[in-house]
Amino acid sequence: MSVISGASEGDRGARGMERVAARPYARVALDIPIAPWFDYRVPDELIGTLGPRDWVLVPWGRGRRVGLVLSVGAAPELPEEKIRAIERRFATAPRPDAAWLALVEFAARYYHRHPGEVALPALPRLLRTPPVARARGCPFERARARFRAANAGRAPGAAEPAELLSGAALPIPAEMELNADQQRALDALLATEGFAVHLLHGITGSGKTEVYLRWIARILARDEHAQALMLVPEIALTPQLARQVAQRFPGAGVAVLHSGLGEAERSAGWVAAADGCARLVIGTRLAVLVPMPRLAAIVVDEEHDPSFRQQEGVHYSARDLAVAAASIRGIPVVLGSATPALESWHSAQRGRYRALSLPLRATGAVLPTLRIVSSRGETGPAGLTEVAREAIERVLQRGEQALVFINRRGFAPVLSCPSCGWLSQCGECSAYRVLHYAGAHRPGAGAAGTGRGGSRYRLQCHHCGGASPVPRACPECGDVDLQPLGAGTQRIEQELATVFPGARIARLDRDVASRRGAAERVLASVHAGEVDIVVGTQMLAKGHDFQRLVVVIVVDADAGLYAPDFRAPERLFATLMQVSGRAGRAAPEAGTDPDGGATPARGEVIVQTRFPEHPLFAALQAHDFTGFADALLAERREAGLPPFRHLALLRAEAASIEEALDFLAAAKAQSGAASRGSEQIRVFDPVPMPLARVKGRARAQLLVESPSRGALHPFVDAWLARLGGIVTRVRWQLEIDPIEI
Ligand code: ADP
Ligand code: ZN
Ligand code: ZN
Repeated sequence: MSVISGASEGDRGARGMERVAARPYARVALDIPIAPWFDYRVPDELIGTLGPRDWVLVPWGRGRRVGLVLSVGAAPELPEEKIRAIERRFATAPRPDAAWLALVEFAARYYHRHPGEVALPALPRLLRTPPVARARGCPFERARARFRAANAGRAPGAAEPAELLSGAALPIPAEMELNADQQRALDALLATEGFAVHLLHGITGSGKTEVYLRWIARILARDEHAQALMLVPEIALTPQLARQVAQRFPGAGVAVLHSGLGEAERSAGWVAAADGCARLVIGTRLAVLVPMPRLAAIVVDEEHDPSFRQQEGVHYSARDLAVAAASIRGIPVVLGSATPALESWHSAQRGRYRALSLPLRATGAVLPTLRIVSSRGETGPAGLTEVAREAIERVLQRGEQALVFINRRGFAPVLSCPSCGWLSQCGECSAYRVLHYAGAHRPGAGAAGTGRGGSRYRLQCHHCGGASPVPRACPECGDVDLQPLGAGTQRIEQELATVFPGARIARLDRDVASRRGAAERVLASVHAGEVDIVVGTQMLAKGHDFQRLVVVIVVDADAGLYAPDFRAPERLFATLMQVSGRAGRAAPEAGTDPDGGATPARGEVIVQTRFPEHPLFAALQAHDFTGFADALLAERREAGLPPFRHLALLRAEAASIEEALDFLAAAKAQSGAASRGSEQIRVFDPVPMPLARVKGRARAQLLVESPSRGALHPFVDAWLARLGGIVTRVRWQLEIDPIEI
């Protein structure tokens, strides 16, 4: 509990005790990078009630900030007249439990940032934006009222959220019969007491979701207060899952948390989770930092997914924090995937994680056959080889569905001038501006010669967002015949319409999904069989259980095959495995032989590549994740890469590349003193980043590597302290366990 009086701080000098006894102070964490906490005076009316983990409003500069009380009672080192008073305590805000603060403090230490930089950005914006006036009331109370209203009547007789929570142990819903592998996995989970990490490796369609939900149901039934957290990668995925879960757990006060929600809705979910009213929270990476006082189980679905990495502020891995949270709370966590991250795979091999496996499709469907088709020769419209075109034709004849996968949105990745070689370079970034079609799609409208069409097209940079009209003529030579090079989802969609007139075609990518509800509509129409061919990016690849889908075409598997990042093959394999897994998921029709081997695969996947002999494809064709992962791990061990080494990456951004590189050179010069010559720390030379310029700013990076976390983290602490002393205009940031280098 809070220590208001200085009396318990036995080792302080008498003067300090007097000061503290006379005037309590609070250490308040704010989302401000300059210090781990800020000292404030506790006003008289809050003495005795203010405690650690209270949310407060404090003056900061000329404005105010929402902050989190870390402790009360410590005597500040500042002169007293400089210390301002806490303005207000949000009295009805949920006070998170100590385990949550321990997680925040762990994350701050691990990522070498301050607790406020972890805790406050995780608070929904409405709750961390200072209310303008007291008259506007308490934002936490408003959020609570909203959740209450939304859930009213869900649980019979539950008027108050507290009743939702404590009404009774939740009944276990009626369920289909698990297969033997699912049952074995569930039994292993249920047998776990205390902290354990389970790695559930289940092929696509093996029924992982069923295992998660059943495990959660048992845990919520066992303890009437228990809460569970399920992390999922994509916002586009949650509607289907959220509906499924809401049906399954009526009265559980399911809170869904992702950044696509309105602020009011997010705040309501956050408060419900923190109050303990929401028994089950489903969310994207942000949800890992939501306080859940009675958290008893965590699931991380598609644990390998890069979207679990936070990209702004503190670059945390939600998967890694989920494991940390489980460890702090002494509860089990399940990481599930068809293609686990090599880090997780390696941990399972070493016995740190417990391996569970679902090697068969739950519905009895057989994994699709996979063909690797060379696209070295001519491809036709929509980038399709003859083989792919025929496969789609067969699907259309039989009234089934096809998925055409291309991981590039827009019409074409670049616009070019065939006479002089001009390319649509972005003025601000070292990247091309992508040609986008701005109008509604009209089948048969024709795609070539797009530059002249003028206004319906525009150029857009995917890095800085900069957009420009398509020039009427080449800016270099005046030629009017500008040509799009390559294809993105829009061009494929248009060209498919000309190749397969009459087919019903839908598209799903980030551009479509940016319109509210649009992704959900597209997915619903695919599920309803109102679409024959669906074109899209990896948004289509993840988790969807399309029952009518039989053929998957990967238009171009080559991006990523020879990319500079050492994780590129791992990621490509995961993506291809995932998208392939959408094919032929439905149960075999009655009359076919249900017992494994003899049943022919219904699904067919065609992967087009210019490098069909690449070993990655052989592993993919054999559905052999294990063999592929083991080969990659052997390579990583040889090359001294994660998970055998640990990395930290210092990134710098400046007006010129020289300035950025100079700063990193100065940083490197400080590293010897910080490592005190330790052989465990290896600091590489500064280099420009692969994308060397974004928004007109030059970017460079410096990699640090160590075989030991025990050596790396103290080094980073000492090094950061020295970097703080370098006077520079360069903006820099250090990332631990970078996922892209
Ligand atoms: P995963 O998440 O492993 O890709 P899903 O959880 O989406 O797989 O399950 C795939 C399909 O199998 C779903 O349609 C699901 O309803 C079905 N399913 C799961 N478990 C069983 C089971 N024991 N018997 C029959 N069908 C099942
Ligand atoms: Zn030209
Ligand atoms: Zn740009």
